[in-house]
Order: sequence, then C-alpha cells, then structure tokens
Amino acid sequence: MNAQTRGVAEETRVLVVEDDRGIAESLVRGLRQAGYGAEGVRTGRAALSAPTPDVVLLDLGLPDIDSVEVCRRLRARSDAAIIAVTARGEEADRVVALDEGADDYLVKPFGLAELLARIRAVLRRRRPAGPEILRHGPLALDLRTRQVLLDGREVALTPKEFGILECLAADPGRAVTRQQILERAWDAHWYGPTKVLDVHVAALRRKLGVPGLIETVYGQGFRLGAVQDSRERS
Ligand code: CA
Repeated sequence: MNAQTRGVAEETRVLVVEDDRGIAESLVRGLRQAGYGAEGVRTGRAALSAPTPDVVLLDLGLPDIDSVEVCRRLRARSDAAIIAVTARGEEADRVVALDEGADDYLVKPFGLAELLARIRAVLRRRRPAGPEILRHGPLALDLRTRQVLLDGREVALTPKEFGILECLAADPGRAVTRQQILERAWDAHWYGPTKVLDVHVAALRRKLGVPGLIETVYGQGFRLGAVQDSRERS
C-alpha cells in the first residue's frame, strides 16, 4: 500500500524516537515506503524539540530523559497519537506510558505490517465523529472537538479515555461489555489483555472525580450510572 492508494498517508508525519540506530533506520525506511513522512530522532530531548508530528513512535528505553516523562510532555503540548514501544517484560513501563497519554503500545520485536496497522488504528480513532454532543447528568461530550465538560468545566482526557467515555455515554445506563469497549475505543481486532482497559477506566474515574458515574458491571463491563449535577451533589 503506497501513498497514492492511501491518500491521507502523504500528509501523515510519524516521528520515530529510538536510540538504536539499526531499528530506527529500518522503521523510518519502512514507514517512508508505506507513504508516511517519517523522521527519526535518537533522544527524548530531540523528540520534544521536533516539529509536532501526527504519530509518535516512542521507545520507552531512551538514553537521556525518562521516556514516560517524554510521553507526558508530548501529550501536554500536542494531540499527536503516541505509540509506546517496549522490550518484552517491561509491562510496568507500558502501563505507566498508557496512563500518561500513550494511545497504544507495541512490544519488540514487531513487524512492519503490525506497526502500520497500529498507526492506521490510532489515526482512525482520532477522526472527529461529527458535531454531536452527548449529555448525561453533569457530563457533556463534544464528539467533534473531543472535549469533555463536567459541570461546565473542561476535563482533559487522553484519546483512549475519551473513547471509553464515548462508548458509555452513547447509551447511558446500558452496560457495555469490555470487548465492545476494546473494539470501539481500541481497534476492531484487539486481542491483547483486557486489563489495559482497567488502567484507563481507573484514570478516567480519577479525572472525572464523580463517584458512581462509571459503574462496574461485574462479569460484563461498565456503564454510566445515574448521577446528579453538582448543585445536587454538594
Ligand atoms: Ca532504547
């Protein structure tokens, strides 16, 4: 699949942050052949000073700045999709990276086809869904701007957290299964562990700070619970 057949891939810029020269060069080459605008940098410092790309492929083992810090700072200043890359056995790092705003992760070694599929998936999930606003109690989700308001105040969510909330707010009160959420907020072909979902739901609950808003439906998944607005809560 090249830039001509993909169309949008021509404008899509991928920043490869990887200190291993061999891996970095082969990734950049593969991405370019697939029609992406790809650049490689070797350090966290260089990643943070590079022009904002559409997708960041972020190695979690960098020589200068802690990669989770790089992830946090990239997320704070841009809405680039971040795919964390780890070695086998670095599960704790992956969880922290997801918590700090990474959209997805890959475990080395991975093939180019898998990388391209993940990039397509993170980009697809970022496309605005239309000028619709979902409301539930104190919560309002603007599906076009991807903004979340709670009692009129904006809550900054990661794209994954927004995706989960969007699934639940589409039909408040109805239980949405873990698999449905993973398929809609992650990728239709997600087959990884579902505990990654719990990490994001925990972060989402913490950020929203409204007890009972996201209910666990044991053995099934999650749903939005009936909550009152702030005047009734206080
Ligand atoms: Ca490394």
